[in-house]
Amino acid sequence: MSFQLSREHEEFRGSVREFAQDRIAPHAAEWDKKHHFPVETVREMGELGLFGLTAPEEYGGAGGDFTSLCVAIEELGRVDQSMGITLEAAVGLGINPLQTFGSEEHKQRWLPDLVAGRALAGFGLTEAGAGSDASGLRTRAELHDGHWVVNGSKQFITNSGNDLTTVVSVAARTGQRSDGRPEISTIVVPADTPGFVAEPAYDKLGWHASDTHPLTLTDARVPADHLLGERGRGLAQFLATLDDGRVAIAALAVGCIQACLELSTRYAGERTTFSVPIGRKQGVAFQVADLAVMAEAARTLTYKAAALKDAAARHDDFKQAAAIAKLYATESAVTATRVATQVFGGYGFMEEYPVARFYRDAKVLEIGEGTSEIQRMVIARGLGLPVE
Ligand SMILES: Cc1cc2nc3c(=O)[nH]c(=O)nc-3n(C[C@H](O)[C@H](O)[C@H](O)COP(=O)(O)OP(=O)(O)OC[C@H]3O[C@@H](n4cnc5c(N)ncnc54)[C@H](O)[C@@H]3O)c2cc1C
Repeated sequence: MSFQLSREHEEFRGSVREFAQDRIAPHAAEWDKKHHFPVETVREMGELGLFGLTAPEEYGGAGGDFTSLCVAIEELGRVDQSMGITLEAAVGLGINPLQTFGSEEHKQRWLPDLVAGRALAGFGLTEAGAGSDASGLRTRAELHDGHWVVNGSKQFITNSGNDLTTVVSVAARTGQRSDGRPEISTIVVPADTPGFVAEPAYDKLGWHASDTHPLTLTDARVPADHLLGERGRGLAQFLATLDDGRVAIAALAVGCIQACLELSTRYAGERTTFSVPIGRKQGVAFQVADLAVMAEAARTLTYKAAALKDAAARHDDFKQAAAIAKLYATESAVTATRVATQVFGGYGFMEEYPVARFYRDAKVLEIGEGTSEIQRMVIARGLGLPVE
């Protein structure tokens, strides 16, 4: 059993870190302050091959493993959580469903641009009345004259309303099952479809440089072949997509904890009170030590889950590992940002110090792609408990 990533993964980490340090870190505070989604930098991420890490070579991807994607998300997240989630959502929620469930025609039509970072895709599951309980969604798609006509609205959709957005995979009711429950399918809706509207971006607590919109679909007509995979399999497709996404969110949380650790270690050595660096005081040094423990434990759980995915492990084992990694890493990230802000004292409360931005950015990690409560539910069920 090895607890180290391969030499290739570590070399790859080095190249992503260099890019993140040079092209993202110097601008992260300004993008955050201005709520600016940096389209040109996203294109550069595409040129570096980050969006195509796990895509097959025939569509322009690198055909690489899931672990590499986690490494890239961790490294972007270490300097800027907004760019980390942009990559995570673009691949995990945008490309992944098309790559996994799409027809050959879907893949040839959409993947090359998405993989190259010339385009972004969104994942439209959540609605005002349906988040954790996605089965309660109300958006409808009806077949008329060889076209799906989609009506409804979606909420909190990442990468859905910027200059690069080309398509959104929309979960919609397409009928009723024989057991009386709604039949849910996934329809791919191009962003230039008449009736598809990305409403003004949200004013969020964090992830200011990430692109998040409510969507309105009014008689949005797309050809019948825009059905993704099998009719009626929409919910299963979205849930499978979220299992992978949870590990990727855990990697983003690891980047956040690592940033807190590095910033706090440095500050504890520089800041003096009572004539000595604060790191000489056990009260501070122990907090920094706790950050190291959180980083190590969260990273180990995350890459264990990624390794299970790469080894095509039994689905139940992977699902359990993904939920455990997401729960632990994201809750630790929230704790880590609180600890780091404390180490920085009053300066930690000032926006000119990155710990303040990480503090605001961390909270949503416990919410997106399944809340902490939903992770606990999945884990308890995995243990055989009949939890509702
Ligand atoms: C910035 C951001 C980006 C997002 N991006 C996307 C995206 O790209 N695509 C997309 O489809 N969605 C996206 N989401 C939506 C996100 O996945 C949902 O917000 C999340 O799943 C929770 O759903 P909800 O907000 O409706 O909360 P609710 O489901 O209403 O939950 C409210 C509270 O009740 C708790 N709760 C609910 N059910 C249970 C239960 N059975 N047991 C115990 N507790 C429970 C929850 O844990 C939570 O604490 C995004 C959200 C945010 C904030």
